[in-house]
Amino acid sequence: MNFCSHCGHKITFGEVPDDEHQRHHCEDCGKIHYQNPRIIVGAIPRMDDKILLCKRAIKPRYGLWTLPGGFMEIGEKVEEGAARETREEANATIENLRLFSIYSLPEIGQVYMMFLADLMNMSFSAGRESLEVKLFREEEIPWNEIAFSAIHFTLKKYFENRSNPDAEIHTGFHIKSPDDPKYG
Ligand SMILES: [Zn+2]
Repeated sequence: MNFCSHCGHKITFGEVPDDEHQRHHCEDCGKIHYQNPRIIVGAIPRMDDKILLCKRAIKPRYGLWTLPGGFMEIGEKVEEGAARETREEANATIENLRLFSIYSLPEIGQVYMMFLADLMNMSFSAGRESLEVKLFREEEIPWNEIAFSAIHFTLKKYFENRSNPDAEIHTGFHIKSPDDPKYG
């Protein structure tokens, strides 16, 4: 952010009154431009012993597999966002959504909320952001080709708890380290 969206003056990053955090702010009109984490909503679409994954057709992590998900839009509830992303990326219909995992990426200010859901029928196909959409059994999951740590975490927890997946909400996080460059 370079210029104030309120008055067009140049933005400064630094201390502001009565706030322990440094903020982007405008020294001309005084407006503080808060930046807060963004929510990513997604689904674990299930059918029998299989779940639906999408192969990414976009950067980052082009060509790797993920669960359908994306940034929440203003005006929608979390479940609606997860169902919309599933529709957009996999042309698939899900129902009976319930919260399964919450995963924090503190350094980049993202929070994933992943919902367990029933895939309603076999009508699905690659949406604009997917190269391929496919149902996987546990033993078929391409563990080394999963796009994001949040998705890896969610899939692991799902298969560990598959006999009773509604029993608890799983929380996790990831902090970047030099030894683990793959996940951001
Ligand atoms: Zn301003």
